[in-house]
Amino acid sequence: MSNCAVVGINWGDEGKGRMVDLLTEDYDVVVRFQGGGNAGHTVENEFGKFALHLLPSGIFRKGVVNILGNGVALDPENLLAEIETVRAKGVDITPENLLISDRASLLLPWHRDLDALEEARLKDKKYGSTKQGIAPFYSDKYQKKTVMAGQLLHPEKLIEHLADIAEWKNLTLTKVYGAEPYTMDMLKDWLSEYCEKIKPFIADTGAYLRKAQADGKRILFEAQLGALRDLDLGIYPYTTSSNTLAAYAPIGSGFPGAKIDDVVGVVKAYSTCVGEGPFVCEMFGEEAERLREAGFEYGAKTGRPRRVGPLDIVATRYGVRAQAATEIALTKLDVLSYLDEIPVCTAYEVCGEETEEFPFPTALEAAKPVIKTLKGWKSDISGVRSFDDLPREAREYVEFIEKSIECPITYISVGPERDSIIIRK
Ligand code: GDP
Repeated sequence: MSNCAVVGINWGDEGKGRMVDLLTEDYDVVVRFQGGGNAGHTVENEFGKFALHLLPSGIFRKGVVNILGNGVALDPENLLAEIETVRAKGVDITPENLLISDRASLLLPWHRDLDALEEARLKDKKYGSTKQGIAPFYSDKYQKKTVMAGQLLHPEKLIEHLADIAEWKNLTLTKVYGAEPYTMDMLKDWLSEYCEKIKPFIADTGAYLRKAQADGKRILFEAQLGALRDLDLGIYPYTTSSNTLAAYAPIGSGFPGAKIDDVVGVVKAYSTCVGEGPFVCEMFGEEAERLREAGFEYGAKTGRPRRVGPLDIVATRYGVRAQAATEIALTKLDVLSYLDEIPVCTAYEVCGEETEEFPFPTALEAAKPVIKTLKGWKSDISGVRSFDDLPREAREYVEFIEKSIECPITYISVGPERDSIIIRK
């Protein structure tokens, strides 16, 4: 039985949520292995439209077990709010279909505060944090200054540990930022209000996954954000604070022996990027506004208008390699239907030289896009369900991308709904 990872090839928001929602039909287990509440996967199905931040996108399928692995930033407060929102639309969420790794570290109440305090200190040098506490959380995790979910099941030791961490963190809050300290009463309230309620979901998910694989079950690993936001291989420092790559999935899910047979890389038919940092192919003015409106490009978490541009072949090919993608899902092709001509960024000009290789992040600042245009198809393709029925220009656009990024495009999505998909294999 084969396993797969669904990952982002670019800056995030490629449409991974809709792909996982579609593919879960063939999988028994869906695992989130990194990231936290700082991005949203949008899923539209028979229950409604959802922006999932922490819950795996398999939560809507009956019989699918969803896992939050040890690599995620587990924010009990946000998770509970999300569970309530999804339950309110008639979706069952119980310890039968949602498991939280006992080794997932908890995002503590001060992590969000620290994100906001640091962005305020940085003023116009800010990195564009979504202020969900993700960077402070991962820093503290690697300093061993947070708490694992499994510790909630050992309350006698937990309070003492939390008191030690609070004493240390209050020094930063008060002396560095001049903020209010946390008291143990505040932390005990947080434990009883939020953490108590996630306890029933906590399990040894590594053991669960090992057994699932041994029993021949199919596992889908769901990533957040994209390759260019990976902490190590992305556009540092404008990255996220975790590893968004498929290669990290076995570790972040607590099952280092996981076999990943297929890596489905999700690529949007044009480029979008939220937040700060170099974005070589960026469009401005009216041209950008039209594309933003056509694709409704506003952040799922923050509502911020996304920066937009043509498909960036240089960055996408780099992302395909970083993810070791074996196939590509191309999303939102329908959005480009209004264009007479479709621009594509095929190379960068860096210091007077043209290159097709993605440069080191510092050099990206000086890179300029080299644009080629392809003919548009100017017709509604949202009802098309087979590749051969697409207008010739749309097929040529897909084939041009496929050749340029050196990876087969096996899915083409032409609308946000579950069935608005062309399968090409
Ligand atoms: P994710 O984080 O990678 O899951 O991406 P987002 O959820 O932030 O962004 C994808 C957005 O595009 C969502 O609003 C989806 O409903 C929408 N979407 C996904 N695929 C398509 C498509 O093929 N066509 C159109 N028009 N919208 C799509």
